[in-house]
Amino acid sequence: MAGKKSLGILGGTFDPIHYGHLLAAEWAGEAFGLDELVFIPAARPPHKDPASVINGRHRYRMVELAIQDNPAFCVSSLELERSGYSYTIDTIRHYLQSDPQLDIRFIMGVDALQLISTWKDVEQLLTLCKFIVVTRAGYQLDRSDPVFATVPAELWDRIEMLSIPGLEISSSEIRRRTAAGRSIRYLLPPAVADYIEKHHLYRDETNDSYE
Ligand code: ATP
Ligand code: MG
Repeated sequence: MAGKKSLGILGGTFDPIHYGHLLAAEWAGEAFGLDELVFIPAARPPHKDPASVINGRHRYRMVELAIQDNPAFCVSSLELERSGYSYTIDTIRHYLQSDPQLDIRFIMGVDALQLISTWKDVEQLLTLCKFIVVTRAGYQLDRSDPVFATVPAELWDRIEMLSIPGLEISSSEIRRRTAAGRSIRYLLPPAVADYIEKHHLYRDETNDSYE
């Protein structure tokens, strides 16, 4: 008997996507038996300066290249097509509209959890999906730490923690290394590294890859 379909959503800027994102999705999918994993690049992340994020077309394409060999992974341009800021609640509502039975797990790193009280309609969001919080190298998850003071109490009941191998990789570090002409090999899939090189991404903040 087929149960409810489960969907893992990994939101982010993916500027660019790297092995930390891919590992988080893979391990969450396996640990919770998720049917499908979707990567959703944000158009205008509310927490980042839009001028410092490269064009969504490049970020989307890099996700496509990164996931091409994994049939359980897909990418959605939902947030890129929507104008204005990208709010998770709007994205979750969109998926529930097409399938109200969908079991949605929003996957994020511990660093993202610290900011969750600033998300739009977070109280309502809690009623619509569950959360998988993955460990991230450099960030501790101790509920009593003041950095988590603003996390709503009810949220802790909706969270499943997942320990994943610590990869101390971030998109910012990849951007910094590229700008400095240093190697980004082994931090992200080769096809993505090739794309960055071919399109001269992250070399110069004044080029047209920035919106
Ligand atoms: P930036 O340095 O630009 O902030 P980032 O590497 O943090 O980029 P994001 O696109 O901001 O990547 O992150 C998207 C999601 O992936 C967030 O929930 C974040 O916590 C998670 N994530 C990113 N990198 C890792 C990692 N190395 N391990 C675990 N989770 C990660
Ligand atoms: Mg980040």
